[in-house]
Amino acid sequence: MTKVPTMIDVDRALALVRAHVTAGPIETVGIDAALYRILAEPICCDVDYPPFDRAVMDGYAVRAEDTAAAPLTLQIVGQVPAGVVSDRLLQPGEAMQINTGAPMPRGADAVVRVEETELRENGKSVLIRVSVGPGQFVTPRATYVPSGAVILKAGMRLTPAEIGAAAAAGAARLSVFRRPRVAILSTGNELVEVDRMPTGGQIRNSNQHQLDALVRSAHAEPVVLGVARDDPDELRAKIEAGLSSDLLLVSGGVSMGAFDQVPEVLAACGVTARFHKMAIKPGRPTMCGTTEDGALVFALPGNPVSAFVGFELLVRPAIGWRQGALDAEPRYMAATLHGTISSTRNRRSYIPARAAVNEAGEWFAEPTRWHGSGDAFGLIGANAMIVRPPNAPAIEHGAQVSMLLLRP
Ligand code: AMP
Ligand code: MG
Repeated sequence: MTKVPTMIDVDRALALVRAHVTAGPIETVGIDAALYRILAEPICCDVDYPPFDRAVMDGYAVRAEDTAAAPLTLQIVGQVPAGVVSDRLLQPGEAMQINTGAPMPRGADAVVRVEETELRENGKSVLIRVSVGPGQFVTPRATYVPSGAVILKAGMRLTPAEIGAAAAAGAARLSVFRRPRVAILSTGNELVEVDRMPTGGQIRNSNQHQLDALVRSAHAEPVVLGVARDDPDELRAKIEAGLSSDLLLVSGGVSMGAFDQVPEVLAACGVTARFHKMAIKPGRPTMCGTTEDGALVFALPGNPVSAFVGFELLVRPAIGWRQGALDAEPRYMAATLHGTISSTRNRRSYIPARAAVNEAGEWFAEPTRWHGSGDAFGLIGANAMIVRPPNAPAIEHGAQVSMLLLRP
């Protein structure tokens, strides 16, 4: 048997995860169901946009050359509301009332804004106060996008902005990657549901809800498996149920204690370990494995902050790649430290922090108040993780740090 990589650094762990994720499968959905999905095929615009020379302002469609000697009056020969095409050819000395978004009448090449005009002769003619140049307040056909142009590439995530563009392009149904199903299993004899008062050594199963929220925030579909006691048969039954999902997240039972049986039970269920333990704090015991059917398994430490860090560093990217996302890697960036951070030992450290931009446009990050990896409240307000290298000295307010910005 080949040896499982152990105590590897985070970058190597992420590369191993990447090597074991393939994108897919693909499905076709209606445009409103496509929000936050990743496009599997490019979208082309099926019309010129705008589809006709379009007035940008309410006012009068004119021949620009007729207005050269303004102020002057023009005969009003018709009206073009939005949605109507005028069949009249505008002649010299004529104007047509036109509304924003309406197609320009033939012969007209500019719009005089209504503010620059005054009706005359009971509305039969109009005083034009200013001259306009050809094309003024007109958006020519196909200015934004010509018919047939690719407007959205495969691999893009569809936010509300792209949904609007896809709709304008006529994409009523879209080809997108299916939302990965992510099974969530908590382990531990000590766990009770959140609506119970913990007694005698019990602790609330907060990870189930934290992981459920994280999975949904990654635009995947959680499949909640509940709690498995620290019993090999119960663990095995629940893990086997979880392996029919695309990903399985197990929390707890992955450390060195006598009740930490998750790695052995995973092996018994046919999961091949790809690594076990990372040189990271918190989150050292994290394990990743795969099945022959292509399921990806993460065994995350039971401590809430450790499980959170493991999710952000490995699971969120894995969910992104599974969905075909092109930008699934964690994003590290520079920031100025507000507050202080103590020295690190031989592991890379991740410190929950609140990051924001100051008036000068510079990022700063302030560690949240937390008491270690078991502190389920220490993540409140955190939208970033400050990263410190192994064996780094203590640093003071104002120091430059690297941080991982968390996605909402
Ligand atoms: P373990 O990784 O099983 O050794 O658990 C480490 C710590 O995390 C212990 O203090 C557990 O009680 C706690 N823990 C384990 N699972 C959960 C969970 N689902 N929710 C909250 N805390 C947990
Ligand atoms: Mg446990």
